[in-house]
Amino acid sequence: MKHINSFLLIIFLIQSLVGQVENWERKASIMVDSQIMARGVSDDHVLNIMRQTPRHEFIPVEQQPNAYMDYPLPIGYEQTISQPYIVGLMTSLLQLKGHEKVLEIGTGSGYQAAVLSPICADVFSIEIVKELAERSSQTLIQLGYDNIHVKWGDGYQGWPDEAPFDAVIVTAAPPEVPPKLFEQLKVGGRLVIPVGSIWQELWVITKLQGGIMDKESVIPVRFVPMVHPEKPIPK
Ligand code: SAH
Repeated sequence: MKHINSFLLIIFLIQSLVGQVENWERKASIMVDSQIMARGVSDDHVLNIMRQTPRHEFIPVEQQPNAYMDYPLPIGYEQTISQPYIVGLMTSLLQLKGHEKVLEIGTGSGYQAAVLSPICADVFSIEIVKELAERSSQTLIQLGYDNIHVKWGDGYQGWPDEAPFDAVIVTAAPPEVPPKLFEQLKVGGRLVIPVGSIWQELWVITKLQGGIMDKESVIPVRFVPMVHPEKPIPK
């Protein structure tokens, strides 16, 4: 009898574990179809990665039931994880092929970095809030991502030791394009960035020969501001 009870308990635990996995994968799939594809993002590679990325793992427990909803969510320290559509749109605008070295500014929860991870060679991500840099880095390690490098620092400085980058994605809004980020971009590379304060626009900027900026406005957006550090951050 005792053995039968333990056996039933194990079966129950396995079933509920499988149920949970199916549950989030189903929600992620619906999220991609109804929120991202429906709004015109058509890059299959990006869409498939977003179907397979456990967004709930990047979110504080109390927000997890909302992880696959159509809006940004608080992640603590007055910061937010972007709306899924914006993550899909920005990732597809980078037009990654797989070999790229990508710089991200604003690691936040680590979710955007996780979406980039399978579609490029390496992600270098900078976060200004120390606790968020530590937390996202732990989450990413726990989930097995091994090509994402998170650094606590000021994104306005970029990551000079790792430059130049094939692509740069900025997930907080500066009032104008930070010169060092453009400098650290390779010729032919793309910078996807929200720019502005109260009124913000999402830009795709391509670096042309001679350091010329080719700018294209995509849509109006609303991001948290890209801030300057209150205290010096050790180099
Ligand atoms: N990409 C994140 C969402 C970013 S929210 C995700 O997937 O969850 C914007 C993030 O930018 C916040 O975590 C904020 O702390 C960070 N940030 C703001 N100013 C910054 C700066 N100067 N340098 C680096 N990170 C900055």
